[in-house]
Amino acid sequence: MRTDVAIVGAGLFGSALAVALAREGMRVELYDKATPASGDTGRSFGMVRAHYSNEVTVRLAKRGIELLAGDRRSAYVRTGYMLPVAERDREACARNVELGRSLGVDSRLLDPDQVAAVEPALLTDGIAAAAHEPDGGLVDPGRMTLAWFAEAVALGAEPRLGEEVTDLDALDAGAVVVAAGGWTSRLLPDIPIALRRIDVARVRPLRVSTVVSDTVTNVVVRPAVGDMAWAVAYREPEGYADRDEAPEVPEDSYRDSVARALLKRYRHGGEAEWVDGWTGAYDSTPDWNPVVGFVRDGVYAIAGLSGHGLKLAPAIAECVAAELAGHEPPIDLRPLRFSRFAEGDLLHLAYGPSARA
Ligand SMILES: Cc1cc2nc3c(=O)[nH]c(=O)nc-3n(C[C@H](O)[C@H](O)[C@H](O)COP(=O)(O)OP(=O)(O)OC[C@H]3O[C@@H](n4cnc5c(N)ncnc54)[C@H](O)[C@@H]3O)c2cc1C
Repeated sequence: MRTDVAIVGAGLFGSALAVALAREGMRVELYDKATPASGDTGRSFGMVRAHYSNEVTVRLAKRGIELLAGDRRSAYVRTGYMLPVAERDREACARNVELGRSLGVDSRLLDPDQVAAVEPALLTDGIAAAAHEPDGGLVDPGRMTLAWFAEAVALGAEPRLGEEVTDLDALDAGAVVVAAGGWTSRLLPDIPIALRRIDVARVRPLRVSTVVSDTVTNVVVRPAVGDMAWAVAYREPEGYADRDEAPEVPEDSYRDSVARALLKRYRHGGEAEWVDGWTGAYDSTPDWNPVVGFVRDGVYAIAGLSGHGLKLAPAIAECVAAELAGHEPPIDLRPLRFSRFAEGDLLHLAYGPSARA
């Protein structure tokens, strides 16, 4: 056997896992058809939070944020995270806050006055309540992936950049891990993954201090350097049969969607002008949660991160490395097994199908 583990994909997940396996003393080959972080990792919004509606994802997010906050290479910034909801979602939101608190997440339910106190830039029309996590915030996914990739190589992992894996059985490895992001279906077509368009905009001036994922107007906003902010205005998404069908940048009509959403939700939203934007793809599963586990003999998948994988990556890597090295993982990953779809044992989604939990 040439190597213990061959990893397909040097994005966030492949790179995080390569480090974790190399630290376990395992021999690793890390393949990428392009370069590290060249996939959706380099297009990510950079937001971290632990607000979820099922236990395994809360545990992974909480542990992931702890690891990111303790790793200077992640550029973690503790801005706080808020998720405002309309009356119809108040109970679901309160239940998620309680779930988080029961698992040790610093989380509370705010009324609209408290929402305005946390982020004075917001207009609170239509907001009945909000979940608030002071430890939520931002990281720099591209930077940390490059740093993890470099650490993996320094620890002995063999980089195979510019090599596209087309046949998993041809890899001479004890186990193969597919961490190929939106390209996963080319290698593992049985995993139910739908690719959906997601557009990110940079605007200015918009002075905000907190990451806010507003479920009422469907806009997500985060602070950036100076008077800049990033925004995602959710629209009915286009789907793709293959990741390479997605365009690089949003079409012009997206500028209006962003402008309308910011005008509704932010006091000075009408002054914010378009700077630029980019397009990515959410790789969503039927229950908007990842598949992590063996999909057949010798082939392991970390796939279908459903647009919210960022903060989960270091915790998933830690657990998968333990499993492949033959130890008990610190968090039980069985709820994320591939067979849950066939078994009808899907994970709970408080707000219906979306990356929001
Ligand atoms: C626009 C956008 C915003 C997001 N914002 C957030 C956020 O704010 N918070 C959050 O938690 N999550 C967010 N996410 C999700 C998160 O960023 C992703 O889940 C994560 O970056 C995916 O990492 P990955 O390693 O699975 O995939 P990728 O980064 O896409 O990496 C896959 C790699 O595999 C390589 N590859 C593919 N096929 C092959 C092959 N056959 N052979 C060799 N190499 C191959 C590719 O070249 C690529 O480098 C966002 C996602 C998008 C698209």
